[in-house]
Amino acid sequence: EFITVQELANRMAARGAEVVKTLMKLGVMVTITQSIDADTAELVVEEFGHKLRRVSASDVEIGMRGADDDATDLKSRPPVVTVMGHVDHGKTSLLDALRQSDVVAGEAGGITQHIGAYQVRLASGERITFIDTPGHAAFTEMRSRGADVTDIVVLVVAADDGIKEQTVEAINHAKAAQVPIIVAINKIDKPGADSSRVKQELLQHELIVEDLGGDLLAIEVSATEKTNLDKLEEAILLQAELLELKANPERAAEGVIVEAKLERGRGSVATVLVQRGTLRVGDIFVAGGEWGRVRALTNERGEQLKEAGPATPVEVLGLNGTPLAGDDFTVMDNESRAREIAEYRQQTRRETEITSTGRGTLEEMMSRIKEGEASELPVVVKSDVHGSMEAIVNSLEKLGNEEVKVRVLHSGVGGINESDVTLANSTGAVIIAFNVRANPQARQLARRDGVDIRYYSIIYNVVDDAKAALSGMLAPKQ
Ligand code: GDP
Repeated sequence: EFITVQELANRMAARGAEVVKTLMKLGVMVTITQSIDADTAELVVEEFGHKLRRVSASDVEIGMRGADDDATDLKSRPPVVTVMGHVDHGKTSLLDALRQSDVVAGEAGGITQHIGAYQVRLASGERITFIDTPGHAAFTEMRSRGADVTDIVVLVVAADDGIKEQTVEAINHAKAAQVPIIVAINKIDKPGADSSRVKQELLQHELIVEDLGGDLLAIEVSATEKTNLDKLEEAILLQAELLELKANPERAAEGVIVEAKLERGRGSVATVLVQRGTLRVGDIFVAGGEWGRVRALTNERGEQLKEAGPATPVEVLGLNGTPLAGDDFTVMDNESRAREIAEYRQQTRRETEITSTGRGTLEEMMSRIKEGEASELPVVVKSDVHGSMEAIVNSLEKLGNEEVKVRVLHSGVGGINESDVTLANSTGAVIIAFNVRANPQARQLARRDGVDIRYYSIIYNVVDDAKAALSGMLAPKQ
């Protein structure tokens, strides 16, 4: 038993009778009040041309995304880049410098508005889209809502400072999201700059640059002197080429909310990154739990647009409410359907806020893996000293077998911070706190998102709990 036909119909904003008919076609004879299992639901959802996302064993969210595109309709699109790195290593300076590298900037007036993302046009005619919020908070916040917008992470490391705590966090966020990294070794104009040291330090995180025999692209830059920015852009385009980024521009637009706010005199304003299709003035859309009709499209140069294609960030006017960063954005056929879906989503959001038990608790993970739905126990380990952190990570990595194992997504010395919680939330990981506490913001975030923080002061207990969780997962021996 899993979901009633009526419920499934509601979630797709389809008629119950239509769903029953589809089920009959699939050879499943049920009435509207009966329940069907997740696999059957998935078939139905696909028949309706939607994508199904299993939030947990007992809950699914029907994405409003349309069916996949035919390969022949796909056209290359610009890459979407997020800049991450340690505080003060020059993320903001680099984003500012790259913004000014836009070739059209001189003529038509450059990028003047902050809308959460901007696109740079290069002399070659190629384009790169940058998410204009540096750091990994925005990155994981979006990911925790299921939005994978970033194609490439540019990791900024100051050449005079080397790899620091937040650099490691950023590396692990990018790895968890399986997004390729390009390293920008910044501040090479400074007297103490030592880029070979940076390259050596990267090795400890399995990031091997080209001159050391690996395939990681690392570019030495200076954001303030504007040195080698063209090389960095070339590296991004090279990486993008390897990724073969494509989208179908000839369809109703789908995208993600990058930023949204309520503005005096303008109402709700949202920046949408179009991921496929073309968004046009007049389009009716759903954005998370809100809907609307596009009244105006404005780009980062303050220009009014009639339409925006794939990988284009654009500010949208005409929302009936303010969605959240990371919410999906989908153009719909008609207003009543858009309204229906938005209302349904608002209602379920309220319900999940009330009943949220968290999907990342150790118990939940154990039962998921027992059911064969997961084969890893993802963890984030924070400890008071380096020695105990290493001891814990080493012991955890030794547990399990080929079928199930512990995966340490991130480990570090220090208290639990917001970055740890967002990483855990976006990956379903459990946080292991060894002789450390969580700061108030992290604690609040963990409570809101239902992230499990486990406090320990004896290594044996950490290993024992992990072992118990894994043994619950282990497939029965014959
Ligand atoms: P963020 O915290 O990573 O966004 O770093 P910022 O961009 O705010 O830069 C922190 C400081 O480093 C600022 O004072 C910048 O002027 C300086 N900075 C950034 N890039 C460079 C660079 O390439 N060379 C030098 N000398 N200073 C830089």
